[in-house]
Amino acid sequence: MIDLHSHTTESDGTLSPADLVGAARSAGVKILAITDHDTFAGYDQASVLQTDIEILCGIELSTKLHGFSTHLLGYFLSAAPTPKFRDWIIELQEGRRDRNVRLAAKLQSLGLDVTLEEVYTKGKSMAGRPHFAQILVEKGYSKTLQGAFDDYLDESAKGYVDRKEPQFADAVARIQAGGGMASLAHPIRLKESIDALMPEVLDVGLDALEAYHSDHSPELTARYLELADQYGMKVTGGSDFHGANKPEIELGTGRAGNLRIPKDILDRLR
Ligand code: AMP
Ligand code: FE
Ligand code: FE
Ligand code: ZN
Repeated sequence: MIDLHSHTTESDGTLSPADLVGAARSAGVKILAITDHDTFAGYDQASVLQTDIEILCGIELSTKLHGFSTHLLGYFLSAAPTPKFRDWIIELQEGRRDRNVRLAAKLQSLGLDVTLEEVYTKGKSMAGRPHFAQILVEKGYSKTLQGAFDDYLDESAKGYVDRKEPQFADAVARIQAGGGMASLAHPIRLKESIDALMPEVLDVGLDALEAYHSDHSPELTARYLELADQYGMKVTGGSDFHGANKPEIELGTGRAGNLRIPKDILDRLR
């Protein structure tokens, strides 16, 4: 079994890199890509562990496509990311820290007792909105993590503050120049029709679609596979495991076993 999409405590997962590798092993995953949001810190720690499963280097970037936040996966299968690419990632992290400062101030201006210190205690180097959500729930401002997004943190909610995110096309180009290949993450979350977007994403050089994902029905997966085929793109797939932050999702098998990722997609990527 393979799983090409997972998160550790270095972004918004709840398992440390070592625990994630252990959990993947127990679940029967033989090849695991670690794709933390905007950081290689989880992969870097996992890659030096002694283990009999194969750990692949990945990253999930938040980009803007037509003004909509769009997740883009980068995979570094044949070469490690270049130092220049890693430097660019550090720049993105600075943008996130700046946003966190403004987000805490905004929530405080709405009368909520949320401090930056609390957020960084939870989120470490990649503290972000999911950690703000945890605090909003713990302090009783929202009943659930989803409620905290709906009430305060979602792009359409009253606490939202913008963050500098790279344009989709720029991020694709940087991943490729940095030695990687780029895959559009969980296309189900696109705000626009994927059929309409395909010519444009092909034009900017997108390598693959994440056809297999825990949020995709069999019908959607089939549709994404067909689109990828039609446009000559590769496909990727993963559970998007986040540990207790998305407790219904399991490594390798997704939601209640709804995921089956063929190993040959990886052979094609390679
Ligand atoms: P950040 O990168 O700090 O802006 O946080 C983005 C993360 O927050 C995403 O990867 C999701 O895990 C989560 N997220 C964003 N919007 C929502 C939403 N409306 N509902 C639930 N989770 C969300
Ligand atoms: Fe996430
Ligand atoms: Fe994502
Ligand atoms: Zn993810």
